[in-house]
Amino acid sequence: MAPQPQYAPPRPQTAPVQARRQTGTVQRPPTGQYGRPGTGQWVPPSRDNPQVVACPNCGASFKVSQTGRYKCPSCATAFVVDPQFGVELAPATSQLTLAFTPECREGFNLYLGSMCRRAGYSEADYNQLKQGLEQILQGVLQNCYQGRIYESYAVAFLPARRNLQIKFIVAGPTMQGDPRAYFPMAAQIMPDLAMRPHPKGGTVVVMSFRR
Ligand SMILES: [Zn+2]
Repeated sequence: MAPQPQYAPPRPQTAPVQARRQTGTVQRPPTGQYGRPGTGQWVPPSRDNPQVVACPNCGASFKVSQTGRYKCPSCATAFVVDPQFGVELAPATSQLTLAFTPECREGFNLYLGSMCRRAGYSEADYNQLKQGLEQILQGVLQNCYQGRIYESYAVAFLPARRNLQIKFIVAGPTMQGDPRAYFPMAAQIMPDLAMRPHPKGGTVVVMSFRR
């Protein structure tokens, strides 16, 4: 079955409802159900030691030389090759549009909390990440929105085990240069923090929290 668009319009009530991949409403299969050899241990792929993995949806197999997120070349299903757990269906990407108001910040933190739990993080990890992301939001508010708290930005989370990828899409003047100059503490806890111009203006800020 081909993946459904993530934000497809609702189906008519009379139509049979099919399980939809990538919406988060479908229960994920148990950890490591796919792509692991029947016996023996999962060996994560590396440049020197590529591994053959199987698509969790169609079973097509192919060789990978690093862990990370993949799209099956045969059926286009997204999946993750996890260093510890083998091949898993990729969790749904979730995106929110929020303002900088106190109630939106509260909502942001609640959402971040559930994403942290989904990625397997502790309360301490959550608190550290929350501080880092507060710095990013504050920096963006000052640098890109001139402190106008009613304007909006988008945030997307992609939780995998012990690896929470985060993307902000912000409007306003494009931020350039070293992200550490804008967000020193966030860059310290997420060394891959990077900024790039958004094709329609503004800035895309991406990072991943790994512990
Ligand atoms: Zn496939």
